[in-house]
Amino acid sequence: MAADVINHTGRAHAVLSASAANRWMHCPPSARLAERYPQTTSSYAEEGTRAHEIAEQCLRAFKDGTSEPVYEGDDLRIRGELQPYIDWIVETYNEYKDKSTDTIMLLETRVDFSDVVPDGFGTGDVIIISDATLHIIDLKFGKGVPVDANLNPQLMLYALGALNLFGDLYDINLVRMTINQPRLDHISTSFASAAEIRHWGDHKVAPVAQQAYEGKGEFACGDWCRWCPAKNCRHRAAVNQKLIEDHQDPAALNKKELGVILRQLGQVKSWMDTLTSYATDQILQGNEIPGWKLVEGRSIRKYVDEDKVAEKLKAEGYAEATIYEKVLLGITKMEKAIGKKLFADLLGDLVVKPAGAPTLAPETDKRKEYNPQLQILEEMEIEEE
Ligand code: SF4
Repeated sequence: MAADVINHTGRAHAVLSASAANRWMHCPPSARLAERYPQTTSSYAEEGTRAHEIAEQCLRAFKDGTSEPVYEGDDLRIRGELQPYIDWIVETYNEYKDKSTDTIMLLETRVDFSDVVPDGFGTGDVIIISDATLHIIDLKFGKGVPVDANLNPQLMLYALGALNLFGDLYDINLVRMTINQPRLDHISTSFASAAEIRHWGDHKVAPVAQQAYEGKGEFACGDWCRWCPAKNCRHRAAVNQKLIEDHQDPAALNKKELGVILRQLGQVKSWMDTLTSYATDQILQGNEIPGWKLVEGRSIRKYVDEDKVAEKLKAEGYAEATIYEKVLLGITKMEKAIGKKLFADLLGDLVVKPAGAPTLAPETDKRKEYNPQLQILEEMEIEEE
C-alpha cells in the first residue's frame, strides 16, 4: 500500500456516524442502544473496505501521474470491478477541469460536522471543488440494492462537513452529491444549494442528533432496522408481535387490512430472519436459548477433487463425452468472453427476455404495472406492423 493511502479498516466510527444517519434520524435511541452490541464485520464489509483502498490508490496514481500498484489474486478482480467507477471519476474531474483550471480533487478527506451532530465526523471518498460547485462522491461497492442520492443523509452530512472545511476558502453555492455503485452499474446524483444543506443541518438534523446522542427520543421501526446492530430490540419485537396479534382471525381480514399487512410483511420477515440468525449466533457462542438447539442442516455430496475424479474415470476407459457435460456459456459470461458490442451484433436477435412472473409490489414501485391483456395487444400490434 502506498505510504499516504489511509488504512480504511482503521477508519474511526462516530456514535452518530454519517453512514447510519438514516437509522438514527428515524430512531434516535438506536444510536446508544447499538453501542451495547459488539462491532462485527463480514466478508462483504471487508471486501468493501479493500475496494475503497484500491480505488484510492488508483485515483491517487491518476492525480500524481504515477503508476498504479500491481494487483494480484482477489485484488485484481476488485480492481477490474472498480474500473467503471475510476473511469467515471476521471471523466467527471476532467470535465470540471476543462471548465475551470482551479478545480481540485481530494481523496479520503476527513470532514467534521460536529457543529450539528455531536462528535460527528466522516470520510468523503472523493470531493471535487470547482468554482462554486462542491461535488461529494461516495463509492458503494456492494451488489445489493441501488442507493438513491436524493435526500441521502450520509451524503448531506459529508456535504455539511465539506462546507465547514472549505466554505471559507471557496465561494461554494451549489452542492452536487453522487453515489456510484460500479457493480450495479448505478450512478445516482442529487443537487442542493449550500444554504439548503446548512438549513437542513441546523433545523432537521441538529435537534434529533442531540436526542440520539443522549439516548433519548422515540424508537421507530422501518427499513433502517435492517442495518441496526440492535435489530432484535424489544420495540421492533413489540411492533411486529402486535401486528400478528391484531390480525389473528383470517376470516376478518378485508382487502384494506390485507393491503396494510402486505406493506408490513417485509418488516416482519426481516425481523424473523434477524431473530433466527441472532439465536443461531448465540448458541454457536455457547449461550443457551431455552427450547432450542442447533442441528446439521441439509447438505449435498460433492467431489473432493474434480480433476482426480476425471483422471480415474478416464483411466477406466470412459470417454470425455460420457463424463463431461458441454454447456453453452450463460449470457453474462458470454458477453464478457466476446465483448458486449460483438455480442449485441452477433447474437442480439437470438436473445429474448421473457416476461417475468407477476410479483406483488407496492403502488409506489417504479416498475410498470403488470398487465397481461395489454401485453397481448402490444404483441398483436407489432405482428400486424
Ligand atoms: S431495530 Fe429498529 S426500532 Fe430497534 S433500535 Fe434498531 S432501528 Fe430502532
